Amino acid sequence: MQVMRADELGMCFGVRDALAALAQVDDPAAVTIHGELVHNPEVLGWLHRRGFPQSPEHARAVPATPFVMVTAHGISERERQRLQQAGKQLLDTTCPLVKKAHAAAQQLQQDGRRVVVLGKPGHVEVRGLVEDLREPLVLAGLADVVTWPDARLGVVAQTTTPVDLVERLLAAIRAANPHADVAYVDTVCAPTKARIQALERLLPQVDALVVVGGRDSNNTRQLVARGEAAGVRTCHVAHVRELDAVWFAGVKVVGLTAGTSTLPRTVDEVHGFLLRLAAAGAGAADGDGDGGCGGQRDGAGERRPA
Ligand code: SF4
Repeated sequence: MQVMRADELGMCFGVRDALAALAQVDDPAAVTIHGELVHNPEVLGWLHRRGFPQSPEHARAVPATPFVMVTAHGISERERQRLQQAGKQLLDTTCPLVKKAHAAAQQLQQDGRRVVVLGKPGHVEVRGLVEDLREPLVLAGLADVVTWPDARLGVVAQTTTPVDLVERLLAAIRAANPHADVAYVDTVCAPTKARIQALERLLPQVDALVVVGGRDSNNTRQLVARGEAAGVRTCHVAHVRELDAVWFAGVKVVGLTAGTSTLPRTVDEVHGFLLRLAAAGAGAADGDGDGGCGGQRDGAGERRPA
C-alpha cells in the first residue's frame, strides 16, 4: 500500500492563532471560552485539562469569569456589547477572514440588500453573522431556495462552505429570483479552498481516503462528503485510535487529508499509522475492507498493523 498526503491539509492559521493566544493565558480559570473554540475533541479535552471554563454553544447567560474569550468563529456586535456591558473583558481571537465576512454582510445590507447567508443554520459562525442583520436568510442547501419578494439580495457564505455548493446555491437563487438584483461577495476562506483543491488533486490518485477531524467540524465533514461523492472509499476519524488495519485490506493507494481544526500532531499520528501499515505490507492482500472505520476504538491505544 502507498500513502499519499494532501499537499494542503489540517490546521488553519485562524485556529492556530486562537490556540496560541490561549497558551499565553496564565490563569485559565479566569477566562471563559465563549462557545466551542473548535469542533475538535482533542483540543476541547486539552482546554478542559488546563481548567478553562467553556460556555455551551447556545448559552445565553453571561459567563461568571472576568475575562471572556471570543473564538475564531467570531460573535455578533450585539453579543459583544452584551458582554462588555456586563463588565467582561474580551480576549478576541476572531479570525480575520470571519471579520471580513461580517464586513461584507454589513456592506451588502447598507447597500439596501437583504442578506442571504449560505451556511449551516445555528452554527456559531453563522449566528455571529446573522445576529446583526435585518431579516437575514440562512440557506443550508438547494431545498431552502425559494422566491423572495426582495428586489435586491446580497449573498455571503459561511467561511467553510465548499465552493461548488456556493456556486450551485447562487445559480439556484438567481433562477428562482429573476426579478431580483443578486450580488455575491466571496467569503469562503482561502485555507478551506486550499484544502478542497488539494483533495481534488489527490482523489484521482487514490482508491481510499482517510479524513482526520472532529465529527462536528463542518469543513471536515465537507472533505468526507467530497471523497464519498468521488466514489472513493472514505474513512473519517477524529484520532488514530479509531483506525483499524482491517479496513485497509485490498487498498493500493490511500490518501490523507484533515480539517482546519485538526492538530498537526493528530495528523502526524494517523500518517505514521498508515506508513507503518504500508511498511508491513498491509493493504495489498485481498479483502472487502469491511472491517469498519472510525469510532470503534475505546481509547485504549493505537492498534498496530500485524
Ligand atoms: S477555517 Fe478559515 S475562517 Fe475559519 S478560522 Fe480557519 S482560516 Fe479562519
